[in-house]
Amino acid sequence: MRVVFASRNRHKAEQAALLLPTLELVPLDEVAPELVLEEPFHTFTENALAKARAVVVATGMPAVADDSGIEVDALGGAPGVRSARYAGEVATDRENNAKLVQELEYVPESDRTCRYRCVAVFVTPDGHEVIAEGSCEGHITLSPRGSQGFGYDPHFIPEGDSRTMAEIPLNEKLGFSHRGRAFRGLAHRLGI
Ligand code: IMP
Repeated sequence: MRVVFASRNRHKAEQAALLLPTLELVPLDEVAPELVLEEPFHTFTENALAKARAVVVATGMPAVADDSGIEVDALGGAPGVRSARYAGEVATDRENNAKLVQELEYVPESDRTCRYRCVAVFVTPDGHEVIAEGSCEGHITLSPRGSQGFGYDPHFIPEGDSRTMAEIPLNEKLGFSHRGRAFRGLAHRLGI
């Protein structure tokens, strides 16, 4: 089945292709290059559904979307749904990470607990909607390590590991990550 992947994030697209191998995931730029995907809501689920629905309306094709982010307990769950825009509307990963380190500078490591969260959704033109969630617990290190992955990965140490997400090979990471769990849940619910 041809399904539009409702994101321009190449890391997410790479992960989605590995996690949903039986779908033919069509890049957004191939079918809706002008479409701007907005994330105006306060929950991952509402934002993921908004992105997928917008793509379905624009293309007439089924769509898969995810919305994801990091919740830091010492920051009251921030940046959460604002993770991509933590340091500003067009912030880079580097700027977002710099802000995170600054906010946590005086917080002891044992209190820098956090989790990645992801909601993956599948929406069809006839209004069928399937939703699945995944999360991954960890803590923040102030000193970045590793060069794989994206976003907050160089600062995120998953529970039970000493490596950052940016030091863990992608195939291993997908076994326990928030996105791995959400997309496997989605595949299970779709029966694919
Ligand atoms: P969105 O899902 O497009 O709103 O983007 C979520 C933001 O959360 C990303 O830009 C990253 O900053 C962060 N994020 C989500 N998932 C991951 C991940 O797997 N690794 C690192 N950062 C992530």
